[in-house]
Amino acid sequence: MSTLNIHNPATGELVIALPADDAAAVAAKAKIARAAQPAWAARPFAERKACIERFRAGVTRDLEPLAATMTRETGKPIKMSRNELNGLLPRIDFFLAEAEAAIAAETVFDEGGMREQIQHEPLGLVANISAWNYPWFVGCNVILPALLTGNAVLYKPSEYATLTGLEIARLLHEAGVPRDVMVCLVGGGEVGAALLEQKVDGVFFTGSHATGQRIAQAVGQRFVKVQLELGGKDPTYVAEDADPKAAAESLADGAMYNTGQSCCSVERIYVHEKIHDDFVDAFVDAVKGMRMGDPMREDTYIGAITRAPQLDVLEAQVDDAIANGAALLVGGERRIGDGNWFDATVLVNVNHDMEIMREESFGPVIGIQKVRDDEEAVHWMNDTRYGLTAGVYTKDEDRARRILSRVHAGSVYWNCCDRVSPRLPWSGVGDSGVGLTLSKYGIQAFTRPKAWHLRRP
Ligand code: NAD
Repeated sequence: MSTLNIHNPATGELVIALPADDAAAVAAKAKIARAAQPAWAARPFAERKACIERFRAGVTRDLEPLAATMTRETGKPIKMSRNELNGLLPRIDFFLAEAEAAIAAETVFDEGGMREQIQHEPLGLVANISAWNYPWFVGCNVILPALLTGNAVLYKPSEYATLTGLEIARLLHEAGVPRDVMVCLVGGGEVGAALLEQKVDGVFFTGSHATGQRIAQAVGQRFVKVQLELGGKDPTYVAEDADPKAAAESLADGAMYNTGQSCCSVERIYVHEKIHDDFVDAFVDAVKGMRMGDPMREDTYIGAITRAPQLDVLEAQVDDAIANGAALLVGGERRIGDGNWFDATVLVNVNHDMEIMREESFGPVIGIQKVRDDEEAVHWMNDTRYGLTAGVYTKDEDRARRILSRVHAGSVYWNCCDRVSPRLPWSGVGDSGVGLTLSKYGIQAFTRPKAWHLRRP
C-alpha cells in the first residue's frame, strides 16, 4: 500500500505518514457511494439539514484543535486558521437557511388544465477535488450544498491539507451523514486522476489552471458536469481621490493575508501617479509591520509557503522583475533553512513585460505600477488571461461602477478586497474557471432542473 507523507511546511518535519488510496480503492469507494446515494436523497430534507446543523456544532466544539491541525499541515498562521473556521460558520448558516428554498419545486405555468413545473433533482454522485489554501472553505462550498441537496460526495482533499479533509469527513459522519455518502479519498494528483475515471455525475474542482485543464480533458468526452474554480491575477486600481494610507493598509492586507496564498489575493496594484509615492510609502510601512515566523505564534502574520515548489516560482518572478528594471523596496529573499519561507516582498517600477504582473504569484509578493488615469488602469487590469476578482479604491461610487463594469472579473470590489460572501456567486471568467459556488446558484449547481409537463385529465 502506498503512503502519503504529511510535512509541516514551517519546519519540514514529518507530521504523519498516512495510508493512501490506490486506483482499486478509489473504484471500490465510488461504487459504494453511488449505491448509497438514492437512500440519502430519499431522506426528508429536514433530516439532511439536521446532520449539517450537528456538523456545525462539531466544528464549533473542536475549533481550537481543528485550527492547530490546519496550521500544522499548511503553515497558515494560527489566528488565520481560527478566522477561517469562524468564517465557515456563517457559510454553514447560509446553506442551512437557503438550501430548501433554492431547490423547491416551482410552478411556472398553470392554465387550461396544463401545468409546468421545475423540480431540482440531485446530480447523484459528486466528485470534489480540492485545494489546500482554504481547505474548510473550498471543501465545504461543495460538500455542504451537495449533501443538503441529496448527493453523495467523493472528496479528494489536497495532499497538503489531508488531515483537515479527514476532519471534515469525521465531523460529518459524527453528525449523522452516512459513511458511504460522504467518502474521503487520501492521496495526491494520481488519486484525483483515478477518481475522474469513475462514473460520477459532477466534478467540482478547486485548484490551479494547469490541473483544471487536465480535469476538463479527462472528463470532456463523457459530458459530465464540470466546475473549475482556478487561479487569478487579481488587480486593484487606486484612484487619486482615495486616501493613500487607508487604501495601502487595506491592500497590504489583501495582498499578504494567508501569506499571499488566497485565490483572490491582490496580485497587482495600479496607482494613480498623483498619489503613487504616498501610497507606496504607506504600503511598505504596513508590510514592514507584518511579523513572519512560527505559524503557531499569536502575533505571526506571514506564515510558511505551503508547497515548497512555489518558492522557485516566487524567486523567479522577483529575479525577473529586478533584471528588467523593477525596484525592490522590501523583502525579496527566500529563507534558507528548515521549512518553506519567503519574505513579504514589494516591487515598484514594474510593467507587463514582467512575469510578476502576468502570472499568478500565490505568495507574499506584489508589484505596484504607476498609471496616468482611469483609462490606462482599465487597460492594464484587463491585460490578463484570468478574471477572478478586481477592485477600485475611490471616493466616487459612480466612478468605481464605470470602471468595474468594464473590467472582466467574476467579482468586483469597491474600496475593499480579498473578500468572499456566501450570499454572492463565486466564479471566474477566462482562465479563472467555469461554473460557480455559493449563493442560491451555488446550491442549485448540485441539482439538475427537471421539466414537468402535467395535463389534468
Ligand atoms: P493543484 O491544481 O495543484 O491541486 C488541486 C487538487 O487537484 C489537489 O487535490 C490535487 O491532488 C489534485 N490534482 C492534481 N493533479 C490532478 C490530476 N491530474 N487529476 C485530478 N486531480 C489532480 O492546486 P493547489 O496547489 O492545491 O491550489 C492552488 C491553486 O488553487 C491556485 O491557483 C489558487 O488560485 C487556486 N484556488 C482557486 C480558488 C477559487 O475559488 N477560484 C480557491 C482556492 C484556490
